[in-house]
Amino acid sequence: MLSPNVKKNISLSNFTTWRIGGPAEWMSEPRTPEEIQSLINWATNKKINCNIIGAGSNLLINDNGLEGLSLCMRKYKGAKIDKTSGIIEALGGETLPNLARKAANSGLHGLEWAIGIPGTIGGAVVMNAGAQGHSISDYLESIKTLSLQGQLRTIKAMDLDYSYRSSLLQKEKLIVLSARLKLEPGHEKIEIHRVTNQNLNHRLNTQPYKAQSCGSVFRNPDPFKAAKLIEDLGLKGLRYGGAEISKIHSNFIINADKASSSDIKELINLIQKKVNDSYGILLKTEVKTCGF
Ligand SMILES: Cc1cc2nc3c(=O)[nH]c(=O)nc-3n(C[C@H](O)[C@H](O)[C@H](O)COP(=O)(O)OP(=O)(O)OC[C@H]3O[C@@H](n4cnc5c(N)ncnc54)[C@H](O)[C@@H]3O)c2cc1C
Repeated sequence: MLSPNVKKNISLSNFTTWRIGGPAEWMSEPRTPEEIQSLINWATNKKINCNIIGAGSNLLINDNGLEGLSLCMRKYKGAKIDKTSGIIEALGGETLPNLARKAANSGLHGLEWAIGIPGTIGGAVVMNAGAQGHSISDYLESIKTLSLQGQLRTIKAMDLDYSYRSSLLQKEKLIVLSARLKLEPGHEKIEIHRVTNQNLNHRLNTQPYKAQSCGSVFRNPDPFKAAKLIEDLGLKGLRYGGAEISKIHSNFIINADKASSSDIKELINLIQKKVNDSYGILLKTEVKTCGF
């Protein structure tokens, strides 16, 4: 039986910040936990796999599309904030910029760095998103998850094996329904907004923020910066098809002109080869690829 909220053949390019991605065989954007649960049951009954998408700001989806059910979490949003304790309970689809603003409005210090990361809290918890020396795991107490077999579980942050842009959730596929964060209460709202705005302005000045991108494509290979390695090879502005290494920030690949998923992939391979040939360093992607 067709679930009422499932659509067929929906282009995933509208669900990624690269604006790239072929059709989802099945697609749904649930708004409640009950809907999520019934979609999981529906997919299990049909014996099809489930792809989880947040804001699609770290995803390269194949132009051939994705089989199975693509579950986009961005409408499953909202957050409860306790100004006194600094505890935030955010639903999986709540975005980091929204959360950073809500925290600032409540006088909570801790998420000022998150303002310019256009992902959901679910995606951030999976990716261990971070900036300026902070990561979401520094503020995370626990998450509530739903397995693809329909089991609910609360997992403490300390059990998620966090390290730089890495977590257990990148190996074990669980739906992040919500995250519980602990921030520092009792700060001046004006000061938190000031720092938050300063961080956003810094991004607007140093990144191709308005372009279609996925943020940094490669992880920084300790102790180096991927952007510096790429820039020093003179690769800024290099194009492959419609994909271009940003002239503003060389760890960003932008969709400059109707880039295909393979244009992006080819440019990623080319950068990896040149960096490896010149420095003997294999750059690892931060971006997650789907359907290749
Ligand atoms: C302009 C720009 C700037 C950026 N700057 C930064 C930065 O400074 N620091 C940084 O760390 N990242 C940055 N990013 C990358 C990206 O925003 C982060 O990785 C973000 O955390 C991804 O969240 P998302 O909701 O978009 O996840 P998606 O890209 O949709 O998915 C990423 C992974 O998380 C999984 N996932 C998403 N939601 C859930 C869920 N609810 N439950 C289970 N799994 C889920 C997906 O299956 C996938 O494996 C930037 C991106 C852009 C476009």
